Amino acid sequence: MEFNLAVIKGDGIGPEVVSEAMKVLDKIGEKFGHTFHYDQLLMGGCSIDATGVPLTDEAVAAAKKADAVLLGSIGGNTSTSPWYQLPPNLRPEAGLLKIRKELNLFANLRPALLYPELRGACPLKEEISEKGFDMMIMRELTGGLYFGERETKEVDGVMTAVDTLTYNENEIRRIAIKGFDIAMKRRKKVTSVDKANVLDSSRLWRKVVEEVAKDYPEVELEHMLVDNAAMQLVKDPAQFDVILTENMFGDILSDEASMVTGSIGMLASASLNETKFGMYEPSGGSAPDIAGQNKANPIATILSAAMLLRFSLDLDKEADAIEAAVKKVLEDGYRTCDIVSEGTTLVSTTEMGDLICERL
Ligand code: NAD
Repeated sequence: MEFNLAVIKGDGIGPEVVSEAMKVLDKIGEKFGHTFHYDQLLMGGCSIDATGVPLTDEAVAAAKKADAVLLGSIGGNTSTSPWYQLPPNLRPEAGLLKIRKELNLFANLRPALLYPELRGACPLKEEISEKGFDMMIMRELTGGLYFGERETKEVDGVMTAVDTLTYNENEIRRIAIKGFDIAMKRRKKVTSVDKANVLDSSRLWRKVVEEVAKDYPEVELEHMLVDNAAMQLVKDPAQFDVILTENMFGDILSDEASMVTGSIGMLASASLNETKFGMYEPSGGSAPDIAGQNKANPIATILSAAMLLRFSLDLDKEADAIEAAVKKVLEDGYRTCDIVSEGTTLVSTTEMGDLICERL
């Protein structure tokens, strides 16, 4: 089959890690009989340098035409780069906010997986980390507290700030459907996280999630209060498959979940809209401290490409092959500088890409 991918390499280590992911995609194409056409677009600092803005409308239009978007990372050193002398709406990150909005990416998906070979980097107690874990956090990205009305004013001589947490049933339903769809591709369990003992928005969340669950009889649904979820993530992370939650709870829990895996260079992510379209990117940033040195870990981006195949192109076997090749390369003892430990072999960004391709 033929697929059109928009590719945004971006700044810093972005071009280095995305090139390795493209190398892996091409190898998958060869092996499984697909052709990936790449439309390379500018976003972030490189777009500012070339066009004066962090993302042009032409780039947005081209991204919309693609089957999916693969992104590296954008931005530079925020203290020294001239990009950060510009007004906020012209800085690199404004490109990211614009593309998320234009593509209507309301669902954020972050896997947190502990590879047995990287257990040493997990900050949890050994009896917990040895069980391993493999979860997916599905976070609502465009509603809730971060998008509600807010104001700060003086009330009876006292400064008072108000933030509003609003969700309507349609916003909840569409993210719940995404969560259950993803669970069907995994171990078929959804933990819906809310604060239904206190918040009205959470009670509506719970009601709508239960309605959606009726269409997925194979999926086990449980509800968990957010304070308990934060605790369970460090006490027994193995219990989770898909965690489905609203914007702010997801913001906090997904960072907590990625911390317990221990390595930023391994963490993929995806943002999806109502169709199968999505934008896939590593969770880390542009790492200006190691950019241009062929040192960055490309695995997060390669695993993001695997998610792209699975969730936007429905190529599950191909995604499995990439994930298995990553596992194998770790089993064989190869590590980039961020995950290297005694007794393992240090390799560069390009070597890691080659080693993964060899194992496909
Ligand atoms: P960062 O994630 O870029 O780096 C934090 C640390 O992790 C650094 O020491 C870096 O070397 C390391 N690191 C990150 N990815 C790595 C990889 N693949 N391999 C090996 N080491 C890796 O975060 P930061 O330093 O806070 O931000 C740098 C720039 O990235 C800023 O301009 C920031 O705004 C931008 N940023 C962009 C995105 C994005 O594009 N989505 C996300 C976060 C930060």
